Amino acid sequence: MSSEGAEPDNSTIRIGDVTLSLDEAQETLNAIRAGKVDAVVVEGTAGSEIFAFRDPSHPFRLLVEAMNEGAVLTTPDGTISYQNPCFTKLAGAARPDRGLHDVVRPEQRDDLRALLERVRNGPARGNVELIGAAGGLVPVQLSMSRASLADVEVLCVVVADLTEQTRQEELYREARMEIVARDRLFSVVAHELRNPLGVLAFKADQLAALFGSTAEGGVPLPVETAATLLTRMRAQIERIGDLVTKLLDVGSIGSGRMRLEREDLDLAELTRAVVERLREQIDRSKSSVSLDLDAVRGRWDRIRIEQVIENLVSNAVKYGQGEPIRVLVRGNDDVARLTVEDRGRGIPEEARERIFRPYERLAQADNLPGLGIGLFITAEIVKAHDGFIRVVPRQGGGSRFVVELPRADPLLH
Ligand code: ADP
Repeated sequence: MSSEGAEPDNSTIRIGDVTLSLDEAQETLNAIRAGKVDAVVVEGTAGSEIFAFRDPSHPFRLLVEAMNEGAVLTTPDGTISYQNPCFTKLAGAARPDRGLHDVVRPEQRDDLRALLERVRNGPARGNVELIGAAGGLVPVQLSMSRASLADVEVLCVVVADLTEQTRQEELYREARMEIVARDRLFSVVAHELRNPLGVLAFKADQLAALFGSTAEGGVPLPVETAATLLTRMRAQIERIGDLVTKLLDVGSIGSGRMRLEREDLDLAELTRAVVERLREQIDRSKSSVSLDLDAVRGRWDRIRIEQVIENLVSNAVKYGQGEPIRVLVRGNDDVARLTVEDRGRGIPEEARERIFRPYERLAQADNLPGLGIGLFITAEIVKAHDGFIRVVPRQGGGSRFVVELPRADPLLH
């Protein structure tokens, strides 16, 4: 230690140097920590070496790794050499030698090939579905351009997930279809109402004329004639009422309001009663209806299940071309099964699902009355009972509608 005023000795000078270089080192470290130093030059035995703290490509890499779109580098034939985390999320982890064709839906591999071909002439885009990381299909847009990396030709592919856009487009398409269907419904409803109203007006005129001539001292109106006219008028009123009920049903199903009032019922009994009610329509059609009914009890909504039976039997009568119709009820411990079978024109395979959608009618039904909502309502009722309905072709022609209803009320278990 030096005393005040004394000359500094050598050791004091050395300590001062060390403190100075320590300060310098500390300052350098702080600058590095603060990101103010890009590189340091170190003199080594092999001469000066530069150690870079910042890779000049770092920001681009960060961008590609953090971006919310898939990014892939491939060889010109589509073999993936790099994929960013977003692409991994879309199509699963990288695997050696995996190509774009491995992640594109097999049916669309030709589309991918065409896209790889097109990108030879300049940037190209195309929409495909990827086999998603979770196994489902993911609609994407592939946007490709060529580049060269250290003289090797590569493809840069940006992969935009179109799931949300596709969903929006689907919703829009459905909404448009619904509008078209509703417009069609208005004209069909008007047409369907005009017929019974026309008959009703005609019968009312007839009745008025007969009453008129009676009042003017003509032949008194025979009671039977009046009764016949009134019965016919009543039938037309029922037709209109039926139509209005169906329209109200569609409205209430659309707003999710179908409530069931379950009670203990026998499906065979209900079926027999409904067929009896349709007797006049059946007789007019020339079709015979044979019943093969086992008693099967369950807890169902009487009015709704009657609607199901009525819709299926009256369709069999309407579309059954006057050929025999068979109605079966069977059951086991768990379910009751209703089968309605006709020998009419049947339903082509492509239409077997869509006839259960609202307003769907097949071209062959064009000259027969109907709104195309009966089967929709039927299917909704069956669904509300936790059952299911399907249509299968009948051997030898015609169709067979099968309804299965759980016998118990699931809410009671
Ligand atoms: P609607 O009979 O009022 O047209 P539905 O919803 O009951 O409406 O039936 C939808 C369509 O399904 C009908 O228009 C018809 O084309 C077809 N369809 C229904 N039942 C049968 C059947 N038993 N045989 C052939 N086609 C049928």
